[in-house]
Amino acid sequence: MKILVLNAGSSSLKYQLFNMESGQVLAKGNCERIGAGGIVTYKKTNAEPYFEETDLENHEAALKIVLELLVSKEHGVIDSVNEIDAVGHRVAHGGEQCKQSTIITESIIKYLETLIPINPLHGPPAISGIKACTDLMPYVPQVAVFDTSFYSDMEDSRYIYPIPYEFYERDKIRRYGFHGTSHRYVSRKLAEVMGKPIEDLKIITCHLGNGSSITAVQGGKAIDTSMGFTPQEGIAMGTRSGSIDPTVVTYIMKTKGYTSDEMEDILNKKSGLLGISGISNDLRNICVAAENGNKRAKLAMKILTNGIKKYIGSYIAEMNGLDALVFTAGIGENQYNIRHDVCENMSWLGIELDEEKNKNFQRGIPFEISKKESKVKVYIIPTDEEYMIALDTERFAKKKSKQ
Ligand code: ADP
Repeated sequence: MKILVLNAGSSSLKYQLFNMESGQVLAKGNCERIGAGGIVTYKKTNAEPYFEETDLENHEAALKIVLELLVSKEHGVIDSVNEIDAVGHRVAHGGEQCKQSTIITESIIKYLETLIPINPLHGPPAISGIKACTDLMPYVPQVAVFDTSFYSDMEDSRYIYPIPYEFYERDKIRRYGFHGTSHRYVSRKLAEVMGKPIEDLKIITCHLGNGSSITAVQGGKAIDTSMGFTPQEGIAMGTRSGSIDPTVVTYIMKTKGYTSDEMEDILNKKSGLLGISGISNDLRNICVAAENGNKRAKLAMKILTNGIKKYIGSYIAEMNGLDALVFTAGIGENQYNIRHDVCENMSWLGIELDEEKNKNFQRGIPFEISKKESKVKVYIIPTDEEYMIALDTERFAKKKSKQ
């Protein structure tokens, strides 16, 4: 089976074409600046990347170019678009109804449209991507894979906010959790690497990138996670504040006269590592500044690792133990110093890092970094959300073709 995975952002369309038999990515790339110019990046496996500047009016125009490239004489990897068996879409929000990946139908699209008020940034582009496929490849089954669905088994005590209950009943204000596809992928991969059934494992997965979240996975199910109603909740991130006293928000708005849009901009784009350090949202730049003695850079790193530790501690308490701790995404996979700081002074909880392995880890593969005697195993597991989406898409598309 050949599966095209699409991840539509407000002005971008990322894509990967998988050959599921070999597990190989045939080609991948990104269309950027959709609606405001247009740049197409296309990379066939084992070939030089190809760039094209062209007018991309909307997501449909972007998808059209991607399909043309996939079948083109010069750059193509398939002879015809008909070779694409199914399309998998990353959809950030599945609300309360989409509890697992699903074949896309008219009624699913209608439901996703009702979620736009609580998912204003990611909802409209995802729907545009779906509609573009419906127009350009009407006979190809499409599957939606939601960032939120991994959390659909969480108990209500873990997703209800302690505010008047009618906000949940009437407005669906609750914790949803995000990055679920990544947490699902790495927790499954970990079980595979450890050679144990996931049903028997208590795992904490730390997805630390520009956006970061931490999830407790027990018996293969996410029982709690750090992100909430939006990806804003949780630990300090690249530019997001993470959780803070809500009164800080209302106080700043009142005393500075900021509108809700201005306040959201501060909390989403000017806070977190960037806000504390005043240097960058990129941890690499912050690390360099910290090594050169910059106090605010050091503070940003400490606030980040303090936050991660707090979640790990609380999830160990929630699960009454832990078998494995996983680090993934840009920071989790690459920044050994953050892994070191997070795991420092955790021996009482059974977490003992092998400093040598942690520093000289092998990139791009699952890698154990705990000491032999560590009760809790610590792993770096490179995430692969696109492959997880492709796997779900294959499964649902096969089911559909049997019907
Ligand atoms: P996103 O959430 O946007 O997908 P990433 O997962 O790429 O982001 O994570 C971005 C963060 O990861 C940045 O803070 C960056 O410093 C860090 N990072 C990414 N790649 C590396 C690397 N090779 N070495 C060190 N840090 C990295």
